Amino acid sequence: MPDIKSMTLKELEQYMEEIGEKKFRAKQLYEWMHKKLARNFDDMHNLPKSLKQKIQSGVGMLSVKEVQRYTSKIDGTAKFLFELYDGSIIETVLMRYKHGNSVCISSQAGCRMGCRFCASTIGGLTRSLEPSEMLDQIYHIQYATRERVSNVVVMGTGEPFDNFDHLLRFLELLTNEQGLNISQRNVTVSTCGIVPKIYELAEKKLQITLAISLHSPNDKMRRELMPIANKYSIREIMDACDAYIAATNRRITFEYSLVKGVNDQPEHAKMLIHLLKGKLCHVNLIPVNPIDEREYEQSTKQSVYEFQHLLEKNHIRVTVRREMGRDINAACGQLRKRYVENREE
Ligand code: SAH
Repeated sequence: MPDIKSMTLKELEQYMEEIGEKKFRAKQLYEWMHKKLARNFDDMHNLPKSLKQKIQSGVGMLSVKEVQRYTSKIDGTAKFLFELYDGSIIETVLMRYKHGNSVCISSQAGCRMGCRFCASTIGGLTRSLEPSEMLDQIYHIQYATRERVSNVVVMGTGEPFDNFDHLLRFLELLTNEQGLNISQRNVTVSTCGIVPKIYELAEKKLQITLAISLHSPNDKMRRELMPIANKYSIREIMDACDAYIAATNRRITFEYSLVKGVNDQPEHAKMLIHLLKGKLCHVNLIPVNPIDEREYEQSTKQSVYEFQHLLEKNHIRVTVRREMGRDINAACGQLRKRYVENREE
């Protein structure tokens, strides 16, 4: 479903021409949607009704609809459930940091990657999101909270590289100076490691941060946690990362979810060190967030600390992901899953 909020300014100008409107209308419309964050056509008071009608009968404008919000009393983290035009439900998280507000968006409704510890993949993939539906998660939150969003992470439900073209368009619109104008350096995209797309993204030479969900230092163990590891080896991922670094000069983030007794032992840290030594990278350790459907448990504080310490000792930059919104805590994708299940009952 093509819609007006997914169009670049250039495309919007062409579209205005096609429907017999003046070119300057494109810029007005673009600003209403991407800068002033209008939620609907009624807000766009300086545009003629006839133009709005023409658009609505042609392409329309997609907006997400907030159906639920949980806000943490501890740190202000908010989880939003949004409904899309076809009834699909997605989850988005707003995190408030000292350095600014960060929004974690979904790129798909559901996911087909099948990572064993992840709740978002249990019901499979419903569909990929339109570029505008990715943008609108951010727009809605900035509009509703009246607080500027300065960082965006594509780390919610879905595999962004499984929705690659829409992802690229989303990035273009998000960082465009005529719109929200978020710096590329403040955008992170996280992938389970679809190798050909890493090379494709490298060619675009964007200044975004690429995050790779590694979760294991060897292929055998990785295959047990992530089915995608049957398709691409860690060696192939590392080669693609080297190409990405060479093309962009950007440091790569490796995400590593620590699962008790599975991948959190000192020998695993040592293998990881061997793998990453000398690479322009950063490791983000995430104590796994247990989900009801699986028996994976979170590593103890002690093993997380030891794992971190071993990496540090070997000069690998590492941080442990801080748990935000502990009181509204639900592992990635669980709120969405519960909401959809209750609705279907
Ligand atoms: N598909 C992309 C982005 C979405 S997942 C990817 O795989 O990177 C975002 C991150 O959360 C990934 O690193 C994923 O492995 C991790 N994740 C998912 N479920 C988790 C859980 N229950 N506990 C900890 N990390 C989890």
